[in-house]
Amino acid sequence: MDRDRILLTPGPLTTTLRTKLAMLHDWGSWDGDFNAVTASVRRRLLDIVHGHDTHVVVPLQGSGTFSVEAAVATVVPRDGHVLVLDNGAYCKRAAKLTEMMGRRCSVMSFPEDEPVSAAALDARLKAVGSITHVILIHCETGAGVLNPLEEVAAVCERHGKGLIVDAMSSFAALPIDARRVRFDALVAASGKCLEGVPGMGFVFIRKAVLDGCAGRSQSLAMDLHDQHVYMEKTGQWRFTPPTHVVVALAEAITQFEEEGGQPARLARYEDNCRTLVDGMQAIGLKPFLAPRHQAPIIVTFHAPEHPAYDFRRFYAAAKQRGFMLYPGKLTTVETFRVGCIGAIGRLEMQQAVNAVADTLREFGIPTTPR
Ligand SMILES: *Cc1c(COP(=O)(O)O)cnc(C)c1O
Repeated sequence: MDRDRILLTPGPLTTTLRTKLAMLHDWGSWDGDFNAVTASVRRRLLDIVHGHDTHVVVPLQGSGTFSVEAAVATVVPRDGHVLVLDNGAYCKRAAKLTEMMGRRCSVMSFPEDEPVSAAALDARLKAVGSITHVILIHCETGAGVLNPLEEVAAVCERHGKGLIVDAMSSFAALPIDARRVRFDALVAASGKCLEGVPGMGFVFIRKAVLDGCAGRSQSLAMDLHDQHVYMEKTGQWRFTPPTHVVVALAEAITQFEEEGGQPARLARYEDNCRTLVDGMQAIGLKPFLAPRHQAPIIVTFHAPEHPAYDFRRFYAAAKQRGFMLYPGKLTTVETFRVGCIGAIGRLEMQQAVNAVADTLREFGIPTTPR
């Protein structure tokens, strides 16, 4: 096969040839040319959230989780009390890392097929005065649920609580406007909806809380305040930057802008999602979520109820046809997931459905709508 397989996963994801080609050069981390790339990436990331007046953006080496951990370590005081709104696997990860950072952590649980509730948060904040910060996962990539960012931010603002948003799988696709939605920190990464390659995260930190963050982190590498101060002073990263990842992200952002920015990206992903869901339903595969809770990022499907179904074999057979599926992340029901994000469009989604249909037929599983 002369093309890479299509990654139907929520990162890493399929990238364009232009983005891949951007990585064919070596860059010096001290060099002015590379510093200019870093500066342009930071400026354009702030453009995307309309955050120039209210926020700074601090890039960090590592996968997205490194930046979530760094955001908690940097923004939450050591005697702070974090409340995690939990409706899935990435929420549980955020709670775990908050505890491991030594911060007091409480969890408010919601069903994994529904958004978290801003009204329930309001009641909890009224009842428990010690909470200082709330963590919200914008799109819970575990099941694919869209959580109510604006409502949760309004409740936090009303109670004077800090809000940390994991917008890893939503940033650049779903609208986020820092002029209207107040958050202390918002985290995303290079290898998700911006369609760069994985290897760096970035955290938007509200200017009003930035100075207070000095010295809070118990980790040197995770200290975003220190990273920010050093970058402002020198234009450089504190420690070795992921140079190829940064230049690939710069190239990916250029294509994002050419496509029409966030509204255009959302429109393409919504079309991908619709094409996928319609196609899968037509061959008898049912989405796990109600349509109104579904973010156009990743779709969880019920596995076929048939003795011939086995995810490993199903995965291998789809891979042979050029498409990489993703396992389910739910504990209660047997599912698999299909991503709608990456440098792919309607054609790839239709081909993916065809590959799945072909696979089911090979296994002797009926492909008629239920
Ligand atoms: C992808 C993702 C992360 C980061 O995961 P990594 O494996 O560390 O890149 C965090 N939160 C959400 C919601 C995600 O989708």
